[in-house]
Amino acid sequence: MSAPPGRGRRDLDEAVFVPILVGMIRTCPACGQANRVPAKHLADRGKCGACKAELPPLAEPVEADGALFDDVVKNAKVPVFVDFWAAWCGPCRMVAPEVKKLAAHSAGKALVLKIDTDRVPEVAGRFGIQSIPTFIVFKGGEPVVRESGARNEAGLAKLVERAA
Ligand SMILES: [Zn+2]
Repeated sequence: MSAPPGRGRRDLDEAVFVPILVGMIRTCPACGQANRVPAKHLADRGKCGACKAELPPLAEPVEADGALFDDVVKNAKVPVFVDFWAAWCGPCRMVAPEVKKLAAHSAGKALVLKIDTDRVPEVAGRFGIQSIPTFIVFKGGEPVVRESGARNEAGLAKLVERAA
């Protein structure tokens, strides 16, 4: 994977402005309290800060922007499955329910992000996404498995297993 020219400079500028705390806001299913959960704990069982009810591990795909993507891929303690997709892409729409099932069934073991390649082109560009859907599984911040083309949940789960 080669970086476009000038990329090093932009990285440096961006790094200065990266917020220290990103994470994700998760709403407590019991009391509705908004809880900020750091990326490293998104696959863990937690407790609501207000009512102490259990916050289960993230079990659904998350539409990510660039900041959330960077935070989760860098800090997650489990493999991060990323679905690069776009609204106009038929195979992407077909695979969306399978990605949703994957997220539900791998709760606590993997995290599932979605990158809309039209809305977050800088992340898609960084990984040279040429065709969609493309799936990349990250582990320890690095892309370790990458495949393109729709497949069912079992096929998607195999990609996560290869990364584990
Ligand atoms: Zn609560």
